[in-house]
Amino acid sequence: MDPNAEKIEALIRELLIEIGEDPDREGLLRTPHRVAAAMAFLTSGYRMDTDKLINNAIFTQKTNSMVIVKNIELYSLCEHHMLPFFGRCHIGYIPNGRVFGVSKLARLVDMYARRLQLQERLTDQISQAVMASIGATGVGVMIEARHLCMMMRGVEKQNSVMVTSSVVGQFRDSTATREEFLALIGNRAT
Ligand SMILES: [Zn+2]
Repeated sequence: MDPNAEKIEALIRELLIEIGEDPDREGLLRTPHRVAAAMAFLTSGYRMDTDKLINNAIFTQKTNSMVIVKNIELYSLCEHHMLPFFGRCHIGYIPNGRVFGVSKLARLVDMYARRLQLQERLTDQISQAVMASIGATGVGVMIEARHLCMMMRGVEKQNSVMVTSSVVGQFRDSTATREEFLALIGNRAT
């Protein structure tokens, strides 16, 4: 169910007053409306599921060579501050008879990113969803992201990048597979 926009608008209006603003001044008049729309979009991942998203875009393919999709742009909100974190996601998997349509991995990343998240959990959810959807032999996911809650407040570390990885199946069991994955996604952490 979509969030109640009217309710969110009222809450944002209250918030504006509480931080010392005048919600009736010209520049802020439509702000509650815009924030409600933005929040509905940024949390739209709660209202989607993997089956609908993948929607038959899984194809039979005999290959069992590693498939890599790298540099998938990622924008999410941290669950501790509801501030953005953003970066890139790299996915590798070894198919076991089935592969994804190429745009679907990016959509899968968006679905999980458009929720309140921890980067660690987001990384795990993506690897598990890929594994489960196509019955892969193994999956590796790496996310590199900058967190505005760290850059704009708190420790104010503007250049730090958080790197998380999640490996399942053969990516977990085989050092050679993990190394191949890392080599294929290239020099990271920039
Ligand atoms: Zn945070």
